[in-house]
Amino acid sequence: MALKKNARVVVVGAGPVGMVCALALNRRGVPVTVFEAEPEPPVEQRAATIHPSTLEMLDELGVTQKIIPLGMVSTAYRFHDRVTNTVVAEFNLDLMKGEFRFPFALQYEQYKMTASLAAEYANGGDFDVRFSHAVTGLTQTADHVDVEVSMPEGPITVRADYVIGCDGGRSTVRKFAGVEFEGFTYPERFIKIATPFDVATLNPNLVLRNYFSDPNEWCNLFKVRGEEPGGLWRAIFPVQERESDETALDPGRIEERLQKFFPKPGRFETKYVNVYGVHQRVASSFRAGRVLLAGDSAHLNNPIGGMGMNGGIHDGINLAEKLAKVIHGEANDSLLDLYDRQRRHAAVKYVQAQTIANKRLMEERDLVVRRKNFDELRKTADNPETARSYMRRAALFDSLRDAAAIT
Ligand SMILES: Cc1cc2nc3c(=O)[nH]c(=O)nc-3n(C[C@H](O)[C@H](O)[C@H](O)COP(=O)(O)OP(=O)(O)OC[C@H]3O[C@@H](n4cnc5c(N)ncnc54)[C@H](O)[C@@H]3O)c2cc1C
Repeated sequence: MALKKNARVVVVGAGPVGMVCALALNRRGVPVTVFEAEPEPPVEQRAATIHPSTLEMLDELGVTQKIIPLGMVSTAYRFHDRVTNTVVAEFNLDLMKGEFRFPFALQYEQYKMTASLAAEYANGGDFDVRFSHAVTGLTQTADHVDVEVSMPEGPITVRADYVIGCDGGRSTVRKFAGVEFEGFTYPERFIKIATPFDVATLNPNLVLRNYFSDPNEWCNLFKVRGEEPGGLWRAIFPVQERESDETALDPGRIEERLQKFFPKPGRFETKYVNVYGVHQRVASSFRAGRVLLAGDSAHLNNPIGGMGMNGGIHDGINLAEKLAKVIHGEANDSLLDLYDRQRRHAAVKYVQAQTIANKRLMEERDLVVRRKNFDELRKTADNPETARSYMRRAALFDSLRDAAAIT
């Protein structure tokens, strides 16, 4: 059956998931309109690690080769014990050469990717991205969805065949679709501190991605390009429940956190600092009739392991393939239920399970359990077979394989 005349998918949110999903739909000949509440691509200092599985998907869209020179290629990641200042284990993606098409992760900030996708591909016709357009309501019938949009000239209602909510953790689309967001919020928050100081000069054991375990206060440390030569190191620490945001953001406290892990004479310069809540939640369904959810609107997790955006992009690609078939009349719309089954499985069994385990590993206080965890990690990394299996899982290839087996 031919594409229905004037068929259109509305994607809500021009974050990384919305933009990739829209591009993938458009490449399959589906007209897409993206509504983004912000007046321009938001500068979000959040995701920065793109895993090999996601690089393969972006490559199918012609994006990967364009962004590799703009980011930083990260071949290895290391787990450190802060107490003894030693490297517990290194996982090196060189071992995956021949199996992964891109045997590395790309350190590339999400805001750069979303801005470049909007600038390069959105054309105002079949792939139309409208900034300053906030979706404020939805009503669906058996054959369409009416989307209420607030824009500077006043409110409008746009009729769509399907709506995809890629509008983040506080998703308006999810709320209007009446979908529950099940899970929990951690009592502690995380603080992210970016410094242009070259932290590698303080610790010869650093690579571009580092996880420091500490029974009192763990830290993740990553390098990104930032906007200036020399790049930025981004450190993430937990902020315990008893500590207010105001205290955590105090310059003296920021300095204290950095100095504890990376002692040096003189103060650190900082570029940006944010405190944010941390959630482990998955939507009860990724589909409610003609409304679908992808990315953070469908699942939230702590950022240890860099899985939120990657898993979200995997949703967007999976959904675009299926929805294009439905819209082109090549499949029944029950195929969209398969999207829900496959991607909910990946979110719950992999991303939630792995990120919760990652956080436990970082913060373990019991010295005996810590030692046992380190021994296991070391053993896993030292054996090429178990190391490969670990890296397949961490790069989300296992989640894709298992989800694809669901019918
Ligand atoms: C510190 C930190 C580090 C992280 N690091 C990583 C990492 O390295 N790798 C990784 O995979 N993940 C990481 N994540 C998670 C990652 O940032 C998110 O999973 C990702 O941003 C989700 O993308 P999204 O497009 O679903 O949602 P968002 O990025 O939240 O985008 C949603 C968009 O929707 C828009 N919007 C919202 N409401 C409306 C509305 N009503 N109408 C129109 N537009 C609307 C918003 O303005 C926004 O542009 C990290 C998170 C944090 C906090």
